[in-house]
Amino acid sequence: MATVRALAIPAAGASVEPATVERRDPRPDDVVIDIRYAGICHSDIHQANEDWGPVIFPMVPGHEITGVVAAVGAAVTRFAVGDRVGVGCFVNSCGTCEACVAGLEQYCAAHPVATYNGRDHDGAPTYGGYSERIVVRESFVLRIPDALALDAAAPLLCAGITTYSPLRHWKVGPGSRVAVVGLGGLGHMGVQLAHALGAEVTVLSQTLAKEKDGLRLGADRYRATSDPVTFDELRGSLDFILNTVSASLDLDAYLSLLRLDGTMCNVGGPGDPQNHLAYSLIQTRRNLAGSNVGGIRETQEMLDFCAEHGIAAEIELIGAGDVNTAYERVLASDVRYRFVIDIATLA
Ligand code: NAP
Ligand code: ZN
Repeated sequence: MATVRALAIPAAGASVEPATVERRDPRPDDVVIDIRYAGICHSDIHQANEDWGPVIFPMVPGHEITGVVAAVGAAVTRFAVGDRVGVGCFVNSCGTCEACVAGLEQYCAAHPVATYNGRDHDGAPTYGGYSERIVVRESFVLRIPDALALDAAAPLLCAGITTYSPLRHWKVGPGSRVAVVGLGGLGHMGVQLAHALGAEVTVLSQTLAKEKDGLRLGADRYRATSDPVTFDELRGSLDFILNTVSASLDLDAYLSLLRLDGTMCNVGGPGDPQNHLAYSLIQTRRNLAGSNVGGIRETQEMLDFCAEHGIAAEIELIGAGDVNTAYERVLASDVRYRFVIDIATLA
């Protein structure tokens, strides 16, 4: 075991504070990673506040991890010391269920082992990326292409794949009329990716405050949901809505924007239930769906796609002492567009 510096949340609703965690000695198939950067996902804040149910405290959040390989176990074949690597939202899965065999480890029937606030198959609690070092099985480690900077690549490991996977699954491409709801961490990736896939992209944000940014990121249109005219203008016009909002929405209003057979996919994870009228779906055979991050194979595909298309997160790099303020700013929708912790500042 090795003791490493970290940032932890000791109890529900408490602030992030300096702490230490134990990392296991590498097993034959383990990669030891010196973490350089960790993104702050809104999911970190949901879990810190137990929005989704009870949490294992102390919790070390962080599932948008990039760093450099420090050591490898004897059986590791795909990584060597010095390689630039990433770790996303899960670090293990059963490997044998239908989903795992299909490369969809995020839907593992025995539950994927979350990178933090999880329990690994040996019963040990998992601790995430707000720390100096992590030890992860080789098959759950991603390669960061040389064209991507390690800091701006970190958010791709969650925000990037969470938006890429549904865009691919619902075959968004040239001719698709897509709306991305919420221009935060996930949303600003969704806009860039949908645009790169060839779709016509509309941002639906609470106000027009970030319109310039949205258009620069690749949106064709930017509309405020606080303006009722937006819903009249877009009624029945969209093929696909990617909802990245962290709070519950008036689903009927958004579903009304879909055309025949259109799909609204929720990736945002509010703690409260969301209701809709049966006829909001029945009327034009609309679909309401959800999507959870993405599998390891697809995550590597997304990283390579981003490198090829010059796509990365727009980040605000912060020190270890700034994380609590960053949480407040995320909750106030004051994020442009992802906070990333410079792990060197933990020292
Ligand atoms: P974020 O950076 O805070 O972005 C969320 C955006 O939603 C905000 O920037 C804001 O955009 C909009 N918003 C916030 N409150 C709102 C409200 N009350 N009404 C309408 N719009 C509101 O968060 P994130 O990190 O992108 O995460 C978004 C959600 O996705 C979270 O719930 C997170 O837990 C979840 N998530 C899910 C997955 C998955 O696999 N499904 C993965 C990662 C994260 P505007 O200012 O533009 O309105
Ligand atoms: Zn996340």
